[in-house]
Amino acid sequence: MRPLKTPPFGVAEVIDSFGTGRTIRRVTALKAQVVAGEQDYLEVSRRQEWVTLSTRAPAIPTTEDAALRYAYTRMVDKEEAARSFYNVIESLAPNKKCPLCLERTTAALDHYLPKKHFARFAVVPANLVPICDACNDVKLSNLVTDPLLQPLHPYFDDLGGMEWLAGDFDKGPQAPMVYRPERQVGWSNVLFSRVEHHFTSLGLNELWSASSGAWLSANRFNLRKMYRDGDETTVRDALQDAADSYDDDGSQPWIPIAMRAWARSRWFCQIRWY
Ligand SMILES: [Zn+2]
Repeated sequence: MRPLKTPPFGVAEVIDSFGTGRTIRRVTALKAQVVAGEQDYLEVSRRQEWVTLSTRAPAIPTTEDAALRYAYTRMVDKEEAARSFYNVIESLAPNKKCPLCLERTTAALDHYLPKKHFARFAVVPANLVPICDACNDVKLSNLVTDPLLQPLHPYFDDLGGMEWLAGDFDKGPQAPMVYRPERQVGWSNVLFSRVEHHFTSLGLNELWSASSGAWLSANRFNLRKMYRDGDETTVRDALQDAADSYDDDGSQPWIPIAMRAWARSRWFCQIRWY
């Protein structure tokens, strides 16, 4: 997970942009209650205690849920003024990289707390996160009640870089990588459990292992040539240099982890995986 900047506006501005219409007037009439809900959301988010939020707010009748969900379609519709807010939130993900898997391109805004259960947060900017289709398919509209399974929130969770990611390769054809999250000093049980859940549910080992495997496929000819023209030290040095270069870029942190794991192995540097 990569932290993102929070949207630079609140729900009041979004509601003000909705324009007219019978359903929209019902949402506008609830503006004060929705703004109050946003304050609750922000406060709970600072403590990562989303499970304590009730799906219902007494001030907002159930009969208005459909209107609140409809209002979100005004943010999605490219013809509507409210779309500008959608666009700004979408642009919070640098290079359109999904902040959850770090690999695929963002495709839509995800309701961190699903609008199916939390209609009152359907248009709250802090609840809208740009993610990719595949990560969105995993999240669906699940109502999370266990704090240990609470998804990571790119606006409010910060794992302090990617030091938590570890990995080693399997000795066999193509030396495939196996990644795992490692508990960091200062992490609570809850945070470590959430990171493990994030890692497993989104299939990040499979995704990142395929990605480092693709790097190796694209470079195996060169690595073998280096070994033939030089020796295993030539291969090791090349892998270490490549890892430094990937670290500097930082966009695919699992690849330098693979390169260093491979570089540590004489077996690998003698190209016995080819
Ligand atoms: Zn993703």
